[in-house]
Amino acid sequence: MITAALIVAAGRGNRAGGEKPKQYQMLGGSPLLRHSIDFCLGYEGIARVMVVIHPDDEAHYRSAIAGLEREPRLLPPCLGGAERQDSVRSGLEALAADSPNIVLIHDAARPFLRHDQIDALLGMLKQVSGAILAVPVVDTLKRAEAGRIRGGADRQGLWRAQTPQAFRFQEILAAHRQAAGLALTDDAAVAEHAGLDVRLVMGSEENFKVTEASDFARAERQLLLRLPDIRIGQGFDVHAFADEPGRPLMLAGVAVPHERSLAGHSDADVALHALTDAILGALGDGDIGLHFPPSDARWKNADSAAFLRHALALVAKRNGMLAHCDVTIICEAPKIGPHREAMRDRIAEIAGIGRDRVSIKATTTEKLGFTGRREGIAAMATATIRLPG
Ligand code: MG
Repeated sequence: MITAALIVAAGRGNRAGGEKPKQYQMLGGSPLLRHSIDFCLGYEGIARVMVVIHPDDEAHYRSAIAGLEREPRLLPPCLGGAERQDSVRSGLEALAADSPNIVLIHDAARPFLRHDQIDALLGMLKQVSGAILAVPVVDTLKRAEAGRIRGGADRQGLWRAQTPQAFRFQEILAAHRQAAGLALTDDAAVAEHAGLDVRLVMGSEENFKVTEASDFARAERQLLLRLPDIRIGQGFDVHAFADEPGRPLMLAGVAVPHERSLAGHSDADVALHALTDAILGALGDGDIGLHFPPSDARWKNADSAAFLRHALALVAKRNGMLAHCDVTIICEAPKIGPHREAMRDRIAEIAGIGRDRVSIKATTTEKLGFTGRREGIAAMATATIRLPG
């Protein structure tokens, strides 16, 4: 039984304002779209994740999935069409090659997915062809023209549809092919048009759609309320200089031009090692040596970004986020200042967070001690993570 998630992110989101489409704007330090991707990858029953993007957004998409390039469950994105319905159909056609049994179709603008709701949707599909999240309408409804009330409408039996909407794959693919050209506003309407039995599953107000610019502030508040367990971890690391010809000096993910390089089993990126340890410390989950034993040949000359990604994946697995990190590099040379911004950008890229959440500092030890004698480089880091309560 293969369950796929199709995340629709091909809209322009004009109502939200901003320089880029809303699905690429930041929420809690990572792009709005990334929240849904991380959730789907963190839900064990979802075997494939595909995102439908706008043809103009390929660069935005690449930066939104930074660190997930080698995630086998995240399939290459599919390009969307003029209307949402066209985009979903394109996505379903692209997924068809993989023959999933079930598909969850989800809007990228709803970042607050919940495990129990997905469980309920998938449970419902054991009996019927489709199931969608929805919430009952509780407000009294009014019909108006130019602001003047012209009667009302009975709210009895009315629900507001949300996503994800879950379907048996072959049935919804056939329904979409059949409905091509019709202007239907969601996949439940497409399924209904094909005569499929689609049921409601109780959604939540928390699962709201980020639409207007002000919704980002609401989403930020909601995100932080969901992650009240704030933890700080620290890390420290030292690597000695070695003069292996041709070996680059890697610091915070950046190759720094210098006549010397550091010794170590991996690429010896002392700054990323300290940061990885800080994150593991905040999780209370051992240290880098425990997760990546130096005795293991796999890590020889390894890109230390892999260690950082592993620690971040552990945070994501617990539905948490990296809120901030602060790295201090301690050496007499090379000068860090000229590379500071590149280092911030690189860590922000690996972590999928805003660069304002990444700090790189440098200091010397006034020619004292081993760093003062230029025998090696030390790095210290703190990481602040937020976890669900
Ligand atoms: Mg190390």
